[in-house]
Amino acid sequence: MPDCLFCKIVAGEVPAKKVFENDDFVAFKDINPQAPTHLLLIPTKHIPGLSSAEDADAAILGRLQLLARDLAKQGGLSDGFRLVTNNGRGAGQTVDHIHYHLLAGRRLMWPPG
Ligand code: 5GP
Ligand code: ZN
Repeated sequence: MPDCLFCKIVAGEVPAKKVFENDDFVAFKDINPQAPTHLLLIPTKHIPGLSSAEDADAAILGRLQLLARDLAKQGGLSDGFRLVTNNGRGAGQTVDHIHYHLLAGRRLMWPPG
């Protein structure tokens, strides 16, 4: 297994408040939430970031977005939500295992900082 924080969360070696888990995906609460709802959605497969995703990962990436849809519906996020992936240090990526931030529960400004 790569020496990766999110792989360790998948494996249960690092604790996290998981809200969804199956063989292919995990969703858990961000440790430093930027909104009343702030979840991280990840594939269990270690993909470092969107830049290194392959065409063969298309189904994983598509289903990850549909998981966001489902979690937003289950969470009653009817007023809107934002799905964000930071790719690369310049964009604020700090954990090199692809993840989508699901943010909601406050007014989300545009453009982002
Ligand atoms: P990035 O900056 O790569 O887009 O997002 C990484 C996110 O992971 C950050 O929002 C950060 O708060 C979150 N994070 C970092 N370490 C941990 C951890 O140990 N547990 C959880 N639940 N979230 C973490
Ligand atoms: Zn990983």
